[in-house]
Amino acid sequence: MAAQATKKCANAACSCIPPEKDKYCCAHCEGVANKIEIMCTCGHPSCGMGATTHS
Ligand SMILES: [Zn+2]
Ligand SMILES: [Zn+2]
Repeated sequence: MAAQATKKCANAACSCIPPEKDKYCCAHCEGVANKIEIMCTCGHPSCGMGATTHS
């Protein structure tokens, strides 16, 4: 099994650790999988900015 050592969310902008069975830490990251996020807005406190609106 040549899995990557670092097991983080498959959203490149996200640094959260997903559940073992999931590639994404949450539905948010799965939802933005087709886009490139500059910074993750999943809202997890461990993930930088959180979900503050950027209006
Ligand atoms: Zn995140
Ligand atoms: Zn994530």
